[in-house]
Amino acid sequence: MEYIELGRTGFKVSMIGLGTWGFGGFSSRDDRLDQEQISTLRESSRMGITFIDTAEMYARGHSEELVGEAFKENREEVFIATKVSPEHLSYEQVQKSAESSLSRLKTRTIDLYQVHWPNPRIPIRETMRGMERLVKDGKVRFIGVSNFSLEEMNEAQESLAREEIVSNQVEYSLLHRNTENDLLPHCQKEKITVIAYSPLARGRISQGVASRGEGWETLMRLSTKLGKTLPQIALNWLICHRNVLPIPKASRIEHLEENADSTGWRLSDGDYGLISRAFS
Ligand code: NAP
Repeated sequence: MEYIELGRTGFKVSMIGLGTWGFGGFSSRDDRLDQEQISTLRESSRMGITFIDTAEMYARGHSEELVGEAFKENREEVFIATKVSPEHLSYEQVQKSAESSLSRLKTRTIDLYQVHWPNPRIPIRETMRGMERLVKDGKVRFIGVSNFSLEEMNEAQESLAREEIVSNQVEYSLLHRNTENDLLPHCQKEKITVIAYSPLARGRISQGVASRGEGWETLMRLSTKLGKTLPQIALNWLICHRNVLPIPKASRIEHLEENADSTGWRLSDGDYGLISRAFS
């Protein structure tokens, strides 16, 4: 596994993370696969995938509970990123949500606390005041946002008195490249990490179900030439971009292994260009 600095924090995290939307259920709690999913989480850190992304919203908090259970004995092995929901962005609600997440995660500090989506009905200044309070109290290490446009992210940064926005989590994959227009260049310039969610286009980029046409054919050709799978090429294409950290969700161990092996090598400039054009 390779490791990169998160934002300008001086703190290193794994270059590929693990998304946990679907661990413990999606919009409601489902505890039927708890033991398998706890094993997957522990296996991920053994493979060096130490950046774990969750949210209070996932499975109504049960995803955070599984992360907490998985790492209660080895908390220092992982970097835990969670999110506060858009309906909880008032100063008081941010404190309350963080306390609940800390308790579900069985930890004293959330490494990265992200605003899940902007909420135009609550002034970002108030939310950021709440976030800074959490940092001051030692309950949160770093502040991030998610699904923020460039303008919204700048406004969030301007609302902070002492801290910096270290990351913006947005959808980014071969099939979803809007972030390249303005957000990615800005984040690269300012050293803000772009956490790429749905990096496998929710599983569509895998053997047999990638998009049709030129992109698909190019991926298949490269897969044969390089001896890499389609997800590995898609994830490697993402990490070819400076400051980008993809967080594929993988509940199957073989997927986790495959994704871990998407680091440690790089597409050549030529192959990178071929893929970029085929999916433009
Ligand atoms: P994704 O990571 O693009 O795709 C996940 C799907 O791909 C799962 O079905 C998974 O299968 C499959 N998969 C993973 N690795 C594979 C491999 N090597 N070969 C074949 N299939 C593979 O989609 P996502 O879950 O939407 O996004 C990832 C994470 O981003 C989420 O879990 C969440 O943490 C975050 N997210 C954030 C937001 C936000 O608003 N901030 C929104 C969406 C997602 P198995 O599970 O069966 O292994």
